Amino acid sequence: MDSPYDSEKGGISSLVPENHPRRESLLLRERLTESMREGSVVPQGLIAHGRGECFDYLLGERTNDFAMKSIDASAALLLISSHPVISVNGNMAALTARELVKLSKEIKAPLEVNLFYRNHEREVKIERTLKEAGAEEVLGVGNDASATIPELFSERRRVSPRGILVADTVFLAMEDGDRTEALTRMGKKVIAVDLNPLSRTSLKASITIVDNVIRVVPLLIKRIEELKGKGKDELVQIVNSFDNRKNLREALQFMSERLNQLALSL
Ligand code: ATP
Ligand code: MG
Repeated sequence: MDSPYDSEKGGISSLVPENHPRRESLLLRERLTESMREGSVVPQGLIAHGRGECFDYLLGERTNDFAMKSIDASAALLLISSHPVISVNGNMAALTARELVKLSKEIKAPLEVNLFYRNHEREVKIERTLKEAGAEEVLGVGNDASATIPELFSERRRVSPRGILVADTVFLAMEDGDRTEALTRMGKKVIAVDLNPLSRTSLKASITIVDNVIRVVPLLIKRIEELKGKGKDELVQIVNSFDNRKNLREALQFMSERLNQLALSL
């Protein structure tokens, strides 16, 4: 497992037996709880992860066809966007910092720390995680988060005037529904990774990828590399032919059929 803690003496990997059937899932939990102790993940982030795990179970813990279609459309949209931004919260940084940095370099999109429960200590910790993973610059930290998203209140509305405020496309995961809605109201395209096809974020996003962010980011990078040589017309065509409602319907139908099959197999 690609964990920043693995190499440490007595690190996370050593806590979970090699042959445990749910080893990967347990390692992710350990990684998140470790990040909570360290202060970059909030307790609510663990609850969000648990909810995600439940939906991942229903999806068979794999990237399904409907998610691949969303990843295709997202890769094309990111390539035609003039100012894409990657919004990073505590869970994302704990789970997939290195891949997010790679994505940021691949599409030349800044990384911005964007927190529901914002405080300076957390901002700095997440910035440090991203920098240790190779990021050169991280927006949304300290005074840089000086702009505000209309309609949202308190610390939840702060964004960077060089990042999310001026972005035409925002890539995010594990985001709250209110904030996703506020971004779309500002005329931005939102690409959301969310294991729950019924969440408000999933319903409000321009493109929802119903899959685990851990699996999505590497696949998205690969697809971007493949589509990079294509002309703009072809990319626009891929984006325009994507229908988010239809895709969410497919995700729900998949879960429902899978549950029926599982019920029959017992
Ligand atoms: P909403 O605010 O959009 O209605 P919510 O209140 O149910 O959703 P939040 O805590 O605001 O949930 O957002 C967390 C979302 O992230 C949940 O829908 C959860 O399923 C999802 N999630 C958790 N872990 C992951 C993960 N590893 N990859 C993708 N999605 C995840
Ligand atoms: Mg919410």
